[in-house]
Amino acid sequence: MGENAKPKKKLAIVTCMDTRLVNFLSEKLGIAQGDAKVIKNAGNIITEDVIRSLVVAVYLLGVEDIMIIGHTDCGMAAADFETVKKKMVERGANPNFTPDFEAWLGRMYCEETNVKEGVDLLRNHPAMPKDITIDGYVMDIETGDLVKIA
Ligand SMILES: [Zn+2]
Repeated sequence: MGENAKPKKKLAIVTCMDTRLVNFLSEKLGIAQGDAKVIKNAGNIITEDVIRSLVVAVYLLGVEDIMIIGHTDCGMAAADFETVKKKMVERGANPNFTPDFEAWLGRMYCEETNVKEGVDLLRNHPAMPKDITIDGYVMDIETGDLVKIA
């Protein structure tokens, strides 16, 4: 990969896909184009796919610091997966598609606990080297204040 693909701040951020974080997060963190790898999903949950991207970021792109950033008022906190299931079938999704919805969609009840669990998971993951920094934060979605919680 070209040098320009490497994040200048040697930083990867895992955060939520929440629309309110678009631009807001990078402004509040002072992250400009080229500075950091940003991986987003619903509820900033550390899934296998996130780990896959972080492995590439660490071993191929020189990332040395990983921040997991949750936020207040996250829509994934206690999201109603029964409704998701019902709506899927109503709109023609295959009713035989019945994964463990809690696991598949990423059940979480508390933004802080979710971030702490993600940090623990990454710090103890067999693919992660021990010489990188992994920290967890919750951002106030109104003010942008960032509190380190793990
Ligand atoms: Zn969210």
